[in-house]
Amino acid sequence: MATDNDLINRTRAAVWHPCTQMKALEATPPLAIARGEEAWLIDTDGRRYLDAISSWWVNLFGHCNPRINAAIIDQLGKIEHVMLAGATHAPVVELSERLAQLTGLGHAFYGSDGASATEIALKMSAHYWRNQRQPKKNGYISLKNGYHGETVGALSVTDIPLFKDTYAPLLRQSVQVPTPDARLAEPGESAEAYALRCADALEAHLAGHAANTAAFIVEPLVQGATGMAMYHPVYLTRARALCDQYQVHLIADEIAVGFGRTGTMFACEQAPPASLAGAGIKTVRPDFICLSKGITGGYLPLSAVLTTDEVYAAFYGDTTARGFLHSHSYTGNPLACRAALAVLDIFETDQVIVTNRAKAQSFTDLLAEVAVHPRIRHFRHTGMIWAFDVVEARPGFAARFHQAALELGVFIRPVGKTVYVMPPYVTSIEDMHTLAVALLACLDNPDI
Ligand SMILES: *Cc1c(COP(=O)(O)O)cnc(C)c1O
Repeated sequence: MATDNDLINRTRAAVWHPCTQMKALEATPPLAIARGEEAWLIDTDGRRYLDAISSWWVNLFGHCNPRINAAIIDQLGKIEHVMLAGATHAPVVELSERLAQLTGLGHAFYGSDGASATEIALKMSAHYWRNQRQPKKNGYISLKNGYHGETVGALSVTDIPLFKDTYAPLLRQSVQVPTPDARLAEPGESAEAYALRCADALEAHLAGHAANTAAFIVEPLVQGATGMAMYHPVYLTRARALCDQYQVHLIADEIAVGFGRTGTMFACEQAPPASLAGAGIKTVRPDFICLSKGITGGYLPLSAVLTTDEVYAAFYGDTTARGFLHSHSYTGNPLACRAALAVLDIFETDQVIVTNRAKAQSFTDLLAEVAVHPRIRHFRHTGMIWAFDVVEARPGFAARFHQAALELGVFIRPVGKTVYVMPPYVTSIEDMHTLAVALLACLDNPDI
């Protein structure tokens, strides 16, 4: 597609692209992107592509958003970066205070990307138990098909064979319990009943292994990287109760689903289901929340792990070794924190959660024909994420679908036979119409 051959040749020679067989770029060159504008990417030839997966799920309010731009430019005139050991600054303090208000977890530790947030939460949990004189509690549980990042520690709790198997000899063992992915329910079994059955399996494991387990890490409501597997929130309600009962931390990896993606600011807010909220039952509060991706609106790398007063207190004392021994050079970077504060401002002033609710309904309506297309199964939707599985997808389906969509001006990357869209929140109804038409055209094309 892209004709900026100079840039394509140079990228192939000099840049090792992520999650990419570089040889495949011979047949499928990457897009050479020159600019962005709201939900659109514009290549060096001026062709426009709707960024239907929010630039790997990070973008919330469009490219070159004037309000986020202004915040970063303002901060550039003050201080671009200062180390966070032995120094502090207003953006990191304000961001920590506001995240505490939003999550109910009052202590924010910062990293630079999602995988480092996972690593921080895992280390912090095991160190907590060590400080509590329970050093044997250092194992981890995660969900089957879960994804928590690809550095060695994060990969240990990830369960995606393509990413994990090659590196298995490098990894520490962890345990995977059955995923409540609603597609796996027996015929006639509800998503809720299946989620409860999976929670029973979690309990069976905890009953035998809690003494050696520090934490259970989950992607709340939607397991993203495996292909947008969605599940009933009652699973989180049960997981919280079981983790309390068996004295194991609950780590909510909201890296992909946080900041409104599932229809609430954080996905955990949906457990228990709204139907029980009136009964005086509080929503699930994890012991740790990992945040990244949308936190800066897709502008700058930043991640945060938020935790409870109780965890924090276990590290507070007179010796350095009792404190949390972890650092990254760019921890709490002021420019990234200002971008994050601008994002939180937009959520407030534009009432994004409420606005998105109406928008999501309109988008779902626009996808009505896709939802009943004979080539697909399991059309599903949570908040601002839509996905479906294509039946009898032949090898190479994802690449062919990607290319065909590009030709229609839409940037999508299916995961195996799962097609998903996760558009920026600024996507207009007209843009969503373009997307729906492109999806239908690709599904109607028997060569894809
Ligand atoms: C993307 C993702 C990560 C890893 O974040 P990176 O910034 O890519 O390291 C971890 N957990 C979940 C749920 C993710 O979607």
